[in-house]
Amino acid sequence: MQLKDPSLLRSQCYVNGEWVGSGVTPVTNPATGEEITKVPQFGTEETRQAIAHASAAFKPWAARTGKERAKILRRWFDLMIENKDDIALIMTSEQGKPLAEAAGEVEYAASFVEFFAEEAKRIYGDVIPSHRADGRIVVVKQPVGVVAAITPWNFPAAMITRKLGPALAAGCTAVCKPAGETPLTALALTELAARAGVPAGVINMLTGKASAIGGEMTSNPAVRVVTFTGSTEIGKLLMEQCASTVKRVGMELGGNAPFIVFDDAHLDKAVEGAIASKYRNAGQTCVCANRLYVQSGVYDAFAAKLAEAVSRMKVGPGVEQGVTQGPLINEAAVTKVEEHIKDAVDKGAEVVLGGKRHALGGTFFEPTILKNVTSDMVVTREETFGPLAPLYKFDTEEDVIRMANDTEFGLAAYFYSRDIGRVWRVAEALEYGIVGINEGLISTEVAPFGGVKESGIGREGSHYGVDEFIDIKYMLMGGV
Ligand code: ADP
Repeated sequence: MQLKDPSLLRSQCYVNGEWVGSGVTPVTNPATGEEITKVPQFGTEETRQAIAHASAAFKPWAARTGKERAKILRRWFDLMIENKDDIALIMTSEQGKPLAEAAGEVEYAASFVEFFAEEAKRIYGDVIPSHRADGRIVVVKQPVGVVAAITPWNFPAAMITRKLGPALAAGCTAVCKPAGETPLTALALTELAARAGVPAGVINMLTGKASAIGGEMTSNPAVRVVTFTGSTEIGKLLMEQCASTVKRVGMELGGNAPFIVFDDAHLDKAVEGAIASKYRNAGQTCVCANRLYVQSGVYDAFAAKLAEAVSRMKVGPGVEQGVTQGPLINEAAVTKVEEHIKDAVDKGAEVVLGGKRHALGGTFFEPTILKNVTSDMVVTREETFGPLAPLYKFDTEEDVIRMANDTEFGLAAYFYSRDIGRVWRVAEALEYGIVGINEGLISTEVAPFGGVKESGIGREGSHYGVDEFIDIKYMLMGGV
């Protein structure tokens, strides 16, 4: 890996301002299968120590003014932008996404730090008109304390900053565990945080055994918030583990996004949105369209246009020029896509495009489109998390709303229509935390990201994103 600044490639953990531990667990490049480096295998005891350091660092960090914290965060943002190319290359090497997409993620990740640096100065309280003539009611917002963050491999930078940005802005300190597949991006960001002046103990970054680190994070009484992005299965487990010490939880879990195209949609825009929503990161995002519902009047036309556009996508290693789809993260991810395709085809679906492993081998997969998909197929209920677009045909607005909502998930939904009445009706009826209307890309630091139902609890990004890391204290002053 040819980095401009090779010291950004870190293979140790970061605890209390020191790089510690030695490399045990390999991190591999999914495009080549080659080992990049090894990172430490920390467990319960190291996590306990890191939490103790985060605890000790909390009061002094919280005591700084919002403006002082903002300055440090702003420097962190600037360093991320300055080192964008290196961070992107580290990300592509361990995660697989095309370099341009990785650079886009670095900007997106940095945007959370910039946004919450600005918010640090604006975490306002309230003065509430009192219920008594001799009383005064004041509400202040205080940081909750130590935050534990656990993040996934699909957005190795943004999921870190979307949590640490608001946590640090609020005055919290953090112990963080990135995904085992993609720790190097997180460690590089940590190096930049240190250079920006984040004090020792405020950010601690641990790699190692997920269940041991998670077990300590969720049971240690010093941790007040566990913020997690990942699968619904692990999210539920962590919630259970958090119960015994009544921790607050922030959960960004799985999705099963419907993408609806009505007869009156602008078809070319809908195709563009479908590509952006479905195939970004090779289909490995929790807001990726998982079920594409197309109204019968435009079903064939949409399928043809989509196939034409998808056939122009280029699969290959993310570092190669012009590649729009990298490898999947691992073999299990490929197997899941294959299973979903086989199940659908066995039950009568038709392969329009792709449908199998790519000739490049490894975990490369052909971008796939299936037609005549029906509700009894596994892909209707489970998130594929891969480059598979299943097309369902529907007739009425009522039918499609019912089908779209018929899932335990509720993260993102998308629909295309130019009828203003329908736009309101459908947007309000969809049981989702995020709705893209005539738009396939919904992520931005200025808006609240999060799900309903089993897709999660809480919101990240926007001014709402600070709430997770704030305690509200009500003070009643009597005898005035
Ligand atoms: P995915 O299927 O996307 O890998 P996971 O929910 O398994 O989703 O992983 C998301 C994050 O949760 C990763 O950082 C992973 O290491 C971590 N994780 C997995 N199992 C546990 C666990 N038992 N306790 C705490 N964290 C876990």
